[in-house]
Amino acid sequence: MAIADLFDTGSNVTEHEQLEDFLENASVGIHLVNKEGIILYANKAELDMLGYRKEEYFGKNIREFYGQQDEIESILSSLLSSEKLDNHQTRLRCKDGSFKDVLLSSNAYFREGTFIHSRCFTRDITQLKKSEKLLKFLNEASVQLSTMHDTGEALDEITKLIVPSFADWFVINELRSDGFAYLLKMGHANPEKAKWAQEYRTTHPIDINDPKEGSVGWAMRTRQALLVRDITPEIIQNGAKDKEQRELLEKLTISSVMIIPMLIKGVVTGVISFMSCNPKNKFDDEDFSFAKDFTNRIALTLENARLYEEVKKDIEDRIEADKKKDEFISIASHELKTPVTSLKAYTQILQTIFENEHNEKASGMLAKMDKQVNKLTRLIVDLLDVTKINKGEMVFDVQEFNFNDLVTETAEEMQRTTQNHTLILKLEPCEKIKGDRNRIGQVITNFISNAIKYSPEAKEIIIASGCNNHKVKLCVQDFGIGIAGHEHSQVFKRFFRTSAKSHHTFPGMGLGLYISSEIIKRHGGNIYFESTEGKGSLFCFEITSIDAVND
Ligand code: ADP
Repeated sequence: MAIADLFDTGSNVTEHEQLEDFLENASVGIHLVNKEGIILYANKAELDMLGYRKEEYFGKNIREFYGQQDEIESILSSLLSSEKLDNHQTRLRCKDGSFKDVLLSSNAYFREGTFIHSRCFTRDITQLKKSEKLLKFLNEASVQLSTMHDTGEALDEITKLIVPSFADWFVINELRSDGFAYLLKMGHANPEKAKWAQEYRTTHPIDINDPKEGSVGWAMRTRQALLVRDITPEIIQNGAKDKEQRELLEKLTISSVMIIPMLIKGVVTGVISFMSCNPKNKFDDEDFSFAKDFTNRIALTLENARLYEEVKKDIEDRIEADKKKDEFISIASHELKTPVTSLKAYTQILQTIFENEHNEKASGMLAKMDKQVNKLTRLIVDLLDVTKINKGEMVFDVQEFNFNDLVTETAEEMQRTTQNHTLILKLEPCEKIKGDRNRIGQVITNFISNAIKYSPEAKEIIIASGCNNHKVKLCVQDFGIGIAGHEHSQVFKRFFRTSAKSHHTFPGMGLGLYISSEIIKRHGGNIYFESTEGKGSLFCFEITSIDAVND
């Protein structure tokens, strides 16, 4: 069946007219050009798309409507050599000077080998291209924004992303918990207008109770977003509170505006205003939906940056507090050391005097006092050690010594401090090792005194050594209260004391194991433990003779 057979032959309208009606009402743009490129015909869809009247398009050379001359030359020469074009992406100039992205499909009509005209079909894909571009932009911006930690940095980056590629003027107003709106960031593509924009914001602060629809205050209150595609002189006239404001607004030449609230968990944290100051760039629905998405991401970025800064500040505050604590410990321990030393000296002198006078009661009391002074001295020595560790001033006096002798001596000394426990030694024969004898002795003392302190009901404590190839190992095992699993990672930390309520009666400052671990680490060794709450603990260290470490 021929196409003409489809036409309504019963009517008075000719086939020619019916064909023309068909072309005129086609939803795609259609144009025909001759071999010189002169436009012979274009349908309504094409004229509407580009904004021309018939007389402004018909008879013109198609070359005038292409931005890229080499492109149209190549299209025309392909058509002349009877090649077809399928969905070729190109851009056509509109009457207002802007360009439309189109998909062009084209072929040529030849009669007896002569090119008569082209048949060109154009489909407007400007919106599609714009959506694609905005989506790409949104994705790229999101990746960039996700790495932002600092609010100032994030705001600068956001402004760079928006101005001028998306909006000419961009403002973020923040709504703070005091109920007032604060200017967080403003960016303007034009430096001179930027000054006026700033002046405008200063002279016209945001009124959160502003009843006017479309005002920033209104958006903050109602949580509604607004797109004003076309800012007309009437809108400016009606919107301005006074002559001064109107003049300033006119100077800023706003042509289109979008006002969008930033929400975090449903709570308004501010409002972002996007403005175009170019009459050729009016925001449309596509821009509006992009701006809403982008605003969500900006709100999240700012919230993340705020949380990050809060945590950072918290950490900095803690570091500062730790520094102050360290300073206090350093001063206090140094100040305490001298009076306690003389207290000890006087106690001993008095004790000798009373002993010589055979005043047993007084000398017995002084012996007890001496014990307490010794306890006090040990606490001060621990504090001084912490100060030395902090300042990196803990010095080691390395010498050769018999490890098992040191263990035995320390154990005997500690046995004298307890009547309830029996310290059982299980020592393997050892070679002499090199290290700081006193400091390693301090670690063994700490292990044994903890074992005694934290196993009040138990009878035995096992002290075992092992030696192998310049390496020594010592473990102290008790059958006491143990340490709960969730606290294991804290045990060697400064000031750690178990949080179990039942343990609050045990005296201590939580420094012994911290100092011990520093001593062992400085000997290049390992310190570790196993413990089960209610069953007991096994504390061990291993060190290699310093000679062997250095070899
Ligand atoms: P202190 O005993 O002076 O508090 P330490 O640094 O020596 O300080 O020990 C830190 C904490 O580790 C102790 O407060 C205690 O809670 C726990 N702890 C250490 N040794 C043992 C042990 N043998 N049994 C149970 N808990 C222990």
